[in-house]
Amino acid sequence: MGMTLNLSRIVEAPVTDIGLLGDFAKPGGFTKRADKALVAGPGRLEAIQQAWGKTDHDFRLYFAQFRGGRNYAEQGIAKPEQLADIEQRLGKPLPKAVPDAITVIFTNNSGDEWRPMTPWIIAHRLGHALWRGRLQDKRIGQDAKDLEEVITRYLDQLSDAHGLEDRHFQTSRRPAETYSLYGNTQIKDRRRLASAHAYGTMRSARQGDLRNVSEFTFETLAQYLLTGKVALNDKPQMIVTHHAWGKPQGSTTRDAGEVETLSRDFGYEVPQYIDNLLEAAKGKIYLM
Ligand SMILES: [Zn+2]
Repeated sequence: MGMTLNLSRIVEAPVTDIGLLGDFAKPGGFTKRADKALVAGPGRLEAIQQAWGKTDHDFRLYFAQFRGGRNYAEQGIAKPEQLADIEQRLGKPLPKAVPDAITVIFTNNSGDEWRPMTPWIIAHRLGHALWRGRLQDKRIGQDAKDLEEVITRYLDQLSDAHGLEDRHFQTSRRPAETYSLYGNTQIKDRRRLASAHAYGTMRSARQGDLRNVSEFTFETLAQYLLTGKVALNDKPQMIVTHHAWGKPQGSTTRDAGEVETLSRDFGYEVPQYIDNLLEAAKGKIYLM
């Protein structure tokens, strides 16, 4: 089978290496037909490489099909014994870590609720792997924390611009009980999530599909890797606080200037934090 890619483009592509390991016709961590087709089907590796073409960071992405692959979901930074086990199961050596690159071995598509293994979801899953790395590496831990903090700060500022406070997100029927049940953090998260759904520009946000603020962070990372930038809506939206008779109720803001400023600053500031995290993540192999 001939390579049809333009070679100069491969050299410049941020995904500097991509490949399949193991036999996707055999059982392994990838169990769904859709996922197998999306990573191992004809032309798919080139398509993934192209879709990730807007990032400056050097990624090496591998999709490995082997029995027991599901056990390696969201492992973060690979331990030597894990790599040895996978090599034994595959019957061949794995790619080595490269100092200036982020190497990821995808062993399955489980963990989260299932979504097909598109280039976007692959980027989202990378977020999960890095988040696990937070617990394994101090610098990754600090940079991931900083990234989550800067994103939550913007989400808080957006709801501030709407004059919304935590109390607006208490469940309406029995607020006191809800409060004691979930505590302060939970209400804060609900408030942030409402901002993310109102102002996030990716499909999951527009569809109200984000489960928590971390998911919004991973979606923002995916947006950055695939589009080269991050974006919030720059026009006032309704932030939904609750539903009444099945209809979303919420708050709009007249402060269009504040929304525009926050949206613009988010676009400048957040990529710097993502870049820091990705720099910290280099030189290691991640298992996802
Ligand atoms: Zn997720």
